[in-house]
Amino acid sequence: MKIEKEISTYCKFCNKHTKHTVKVYTKKQTSGLSLGTRRHERAIRGYVGSIEPKIHPKKLGKRQKAMLQCVECKKVTERVFGKRTKKKMEIKR
Ligand SMILES: [Zn+2]
Repeated sequence: MKIEKEISTYCKFCNKHTKHTVKVYTKKQTSGLSLGTRRHERAIRGYVGSIEPKIHPKKLGKRQKAMLQCVECKKVTERVFGKRTKKKMEIKR
């Protein structure tokens, strides 16, 4: 799927519609101190028996994310575009 380089959309910091520049999604580094990861580490440490891996049904493709930067306040937010696809997101030039 293709997306425009610059779009006009709502900015929650400015509380109005502003122009945003679209960039490729980059994952933020996590500290590893969230409750889920702490609980998982405690479980694989021992004392609770073996943990069975959960079997999830396979989904066909992923929804593509992009980073939107507001032109006025320069804040960056994530946004999901479109439905589940196997295609990667392309930004128009
Ligand atoms: Zn803004």
